[in-house]
Amino acid sequence: MKRWAEIVRELGSGRRKPSHARCLMKAVLAVVLLAALPAAVWPMPGLAADEPSLSARLEMVRQVEAIAGMVRGPAVPRRLDARVLEAMRTVPRHALVPEAVRVQAYEDRPLPIGYGQTISQPYIVALMTDLLRLAPDDVVLEIGTGSGYQAAVLAELVDRVYSLEIVPQLAERAAGDLARLGYDTVTVRAGDGYHGWEEHGPFDGIVVTAAASHIPPPLVAQLKPGGRMVIPVGAAFLVQQLMLVEVDEAGEIRTEAVLPVRFVPFTRGAP
Ligand code: SAH
Repeated sequence: MKRWAEIVRELGSGRRKPSHARCLMKAVLAVVLLAALPAAVWPMPGLAADEPSLSARLEMVRQVEAIAGMVRGPAVPRRLDARVLEAMRTVPRHALVPEAVRVQAYEDRPLPIGYGQTISQPYIVALMTDLLRLAPDDVVLEIGTGSGYQAAVLAELVDRVYSLEIVPQLAERAAGDLARLGYDTVTVRAGDGYHGWEEHGPFDGIVVTAAASHIPPPLVAQLKPGGRMVIPVGAAFLVQQLMLVEVDEAGEIRTEAVLPVRFVPFTRGAP
């Protein structure tokens, strides 16, 4: 039996006449090299080598950055936090939207996710996440799990994420999808988010992804001193204002309108 080094040398030299055995070895070697190639050239750590959606996701984030550069407003950041952008380069948005809209997963637009609900436009997800100014050991509450996408983006940035969803079928689907993708620091529960989730509070950040007629007082009460909440406030099915709510260290509450937005309505049900 020839040793591997010898065979490889022979394959490379091409001096010998071809034989069936050597042709077979060439084929085997080619397969081995091709199989190893994607892992070798893959540019981003932590991403699966067989991820076909990466370039679309990178393009989506470039678009998000471009929009951020154009949107004006005193509370609107022109440059989004690099950590937020990195989180959005990582979360597989396509794996959290229904099959029927998967091809559009990386367009900067909202998409239907069933039950009359939508996943927000990526720029809005980035903006809301940025406005929370999160630190790695923060605990965040989300109201309106929907697809689970915003929760996954948050989970890339902080220690723990709690998310409430009023449509039980969406809560169940998102919980399953997030678990399948390995987001085990996200806890999803079906229920009305108006009352928050006291047992896990107070929170460093709260993000509400459905349009409420007013800022729910129980949510403000569950913010830590220094905590921030982002919430669209206004009439259902019309344009709302994205509001930033800050509680300072002395417990003073400050609110600021950030941007006109359109969200699905905040509905009420059983607590
Ligand atoms: N963050 C979601 C966006 C979902 S759209 C995502 O990334 O996909 C807003 C969601 O809020 C909808 O799924 C809707 O059912 C839910 N919702 C509306 N009112 C709610 C309430 N009172 N409590 C919890 N969820 C609510």
